Amino acid sequence: MLQQKSKSRAAPAKKSTDLAKRATARKGAAAEARAREIFTRLAALNPDPRSELNYVNAYTLLVAVVLSAQATDAGVNRATKGLFAAASTPQQMLALGEEAVRDKIKTIGLFRAKAKNVIALSRKLIEEFGGEVPRSREALESLPGVGRKTANVVLNVAFGEKTLAVDTHIFRVSNRIPLARGKTPEEVERGLTAIVPDEFLLHAHHWLILHGRYICKARKPDCPACPIADLCQFTEKTAVSGSSTA
Ligand code: SF4
Repeated sequence: MLQQKSKSRAAPAKKSTDLAKRATARKGAAAEARAREIFTRLAALNPDPRSELNYVNAYTLLVAVVLSAQATDAGVNRATKGLFAAASTPQQMLALGEEAVRDKIKTIGLFRAKAKNVIALSRKLIEEFGGEVPRSREALESLPGVGRKTANVVLNVAFGEKTLAVDTHIFRVSNRIPLARGKTPEEVERGLTAIVPDEFLLHAHHWLILHGRYICKARKPDCPACPIADLCQFTEKTAVSGSSTA
């Protein structure tokens, strides 16, 4: 009798655990379907997105990304036009020297520190990596001026790895929509890596950067022109014709 009583108490508890599990699974499936729809639309508009930084090889890509911290891609491209014409390998960059590098990139922010890093990373590439850009996150992050975001861009663009480099645009857009919420770029990167369907992972960071740069802008997102407005839950959407501001 005692046994029967404890069974009858356990049954409702198990049922509510099962219901909670099913509800979580349903929520997960809905979030996944929504993410899939968002990337399907972004991909349809731009099936083969490219970096807006100019480069001619993996080394110049690495240098361009290092120079792009707190600078616009257009500004970096203006500066690297002359720089890469003079030096497109680590050996040529060392021969050019820090002073000349500084002079060629003086139009972009933090140019003194960046010139120092470009020379130091070129030297390290020659001394430790045979003059080649390594295809390993750990090795890339050991280079002067290279953090996780830069390593992710190089791994993705130069080597076709499915990495997500969370810059200021992706951080904002991902928290806004939201796709993955987080207080740090690393948190957002983890969340996005979990929610973005595998077939979209290779280009996801480009789609989100371009969306943030041209549509979901920091101060005034252009919600009426947004291809994913109906899937976005941002409470401060700008007016979308034919619908209320959510
Ligand atoms: S609806 Fe507006 S806030 Fe939402 S993703 Fe589009 S542009 Fe950004």
